[in-house]
This record gives sequence, C-alpha cells and structure tokens, in this order.
Amino acid sequence: MKFSGKNVLITGASRGIGADIARVLASMGLKVWINYRSKPELADALLEEIRAGGGEGAVVKFDATNEAEFIEAINAIIQSDGELSYLVNNAGITNDKLALRMKLEDFTGVINANLTSAFIGSREALKVMSKKRFGAVVNIASIVGEMGNAGQVNYSASKGGMIAMSKSFAKEGASRGVRFNCVTPGFIATDMTDALSDEVRASYEANIPLKRFGNASDVAHGVAFLLSDYASYITGDVLKINGGLYM
Ligand code: NAP
Repeated sequence: MKFSGKNVLITGASRGIGADIARVLASMGLKVWINYRSKPELADALLEEIRAGGGEGAVVKFDATNEAEFIEAINAIIQSDGELSYLVNNAGITNDKLALRMKLEDFTGVINANLTSAFIGSREALKVMSKKRFGAVVNIASIVGEMGNAGQVNYSASKGGMIAMSKSFAKEGASRGVRFNCVTPGFIATDMTDALSDEVRASYEANIPLKRFGNASDVAHGVAFLLSDYASYITGDVLKINGGLYM
C-alpha cells in the first residue's frame, strides 16, 4: 500500500478491530497513535509489539466522547509530528436490548459513544488536515447501519448516522483535499461479538455466504486501502466487509 501521509490516529485501538488496524498500518510504514480509554496495559503491550516488529507508534489516552480530551490529543500529535495525516474513528460500544425495553439513556449512550465521538474526530481532523490540503478519515460503521437489526435500535441508528455523516463530511472535505469514507463490517470475531450466544452465532454464520465471522485483520486491510493513495479518488463511499451477508 502507498501512503503520502506519515501518521494515523486510531480511536479505541487497545483491542479488537482497532488494535489490528494499528498493527496493519504500522506494518505499512505509518506511525500509529494508539488511543485507549481504560486499559493502558493493552495499549502499551500493542505498542511494544509494533516496535518489536520495526514499526513506529505512540500511545494516547482519551475518552473519544470527551470533546476537550479529543482536541487536546490531536494538538499533542501535531506538536509531536507536525501533522495528522489520517484518522480512524473506531471506538464504539453496544448496549443491546429490544426497543420496547430500551431506556432513553440506553439510546443516547450508544449514539454518544459511536456517532458523537466520530463527529468530534471528523470535525477536528477536517480542521487540521485542511491546513495541509491533505488527509483521509475512515469511520468504522457497521452492517447493521445498512440493514438494521432487532435488539440494536440504538447501535444501528448510530452506525447509519455515521454513514450519512461521513458522506456530508466528504462533500465538505473534498475541496480541501480531505477524504471521508466508511467501512461497514459484518460479524467480526472480537470481544464485541463474544457476547453472542453460541446459538445466535451459529444462526448468523449459517446466513453468511462465506460461512464464517470475519477477522479484525479483514477490516484492517479495507481501512488501509481507503486511507491509502490507491483510494485517492474515493470519497463518501462505504466499503462492505461482511462475507456477503448484505450485498
Ligand atoms: P471491542 O473489542 O469491544 O473494542 C472496542 C474498543 O473501543 C475498545 O478498545 C474500547 O476501549 C474502545 N472504546 C469504546 N468507547 C470508547 C471511548 N469513548 N473512547 C475511547 N475508546 C473507546 O469492539 P470491536 O469489535 O473491536 O469494534 C470496533 C469498532 O468496530 C466499533 O466501532 C464497532 O461498533 C465496530 N464494529 C464491530 C463489529 C464486530 O462484529 N465486532 C462489526 C461491525 C462494526 P475500552 O477498552 O476502554 O473499553
């Protein structure tokens, strides 16, 4: 993969999909800024692993829903490296329950964690990347933002909103040289999907044309492509990484 930029910030990168995005982008030569919120030991171990493999990186603690902390982190990156070339808004949570039992705070909590955090990051990235007339953002949305899912009214709203928001950012960013795209993973084997019962997991797998859950690295390689120079004519798009579950 070819990158004209030099560094990337990945939110929620201490584990799961975010950690593999950091591994893959570091292996491709980018300096990776590994954001964590609550598990410094995981972020530090990942950084050590990346350095042992010859990659470059740093760890940065903030809660992606906290505007002041997010802005401070981006400022620190710019102070260190002179620019922020790429951003991956990956931090996310679920809080599944049927809509009839969903309290307002169950809904707004997931919207805040998934969509508002990506808004803060995208807006701040656009500000700093515009100055260099260069940059790219990938937002990690979800297949359920495209097709909906029972028990996930809050999560699907956050991810569908992320897709629409990214398209609007893409329209505002284009004249400034900043691209915005989404990936929409299907079911990926991480802590998030570990919560599914064996029965639910088997029923999902049966419906996936490629007959398996994806790996975090399947998502990471899609993200790498969208950030790279090979995707320099792609903005406002959505890359499905779902084994064919939703076409
Ligand atoms: P995961 O294993 O649960 O990891 C989520 C990560 O996000 C954790 O590192 C978590 O940090 C971090 N995070 C959550 N809220 C945060 C906040 N406010 N500030 C900073 N970090 C925060 O989940 P995953 O499966 O890797 O998912 C990563 C992304 O992919 C999410 O946006 C998810 O919605 C999306 N996705 C996942 C799947 C799937 O099947 N796994 C499918 C489609 C989309 P802590 O360690 O502090 O909790």
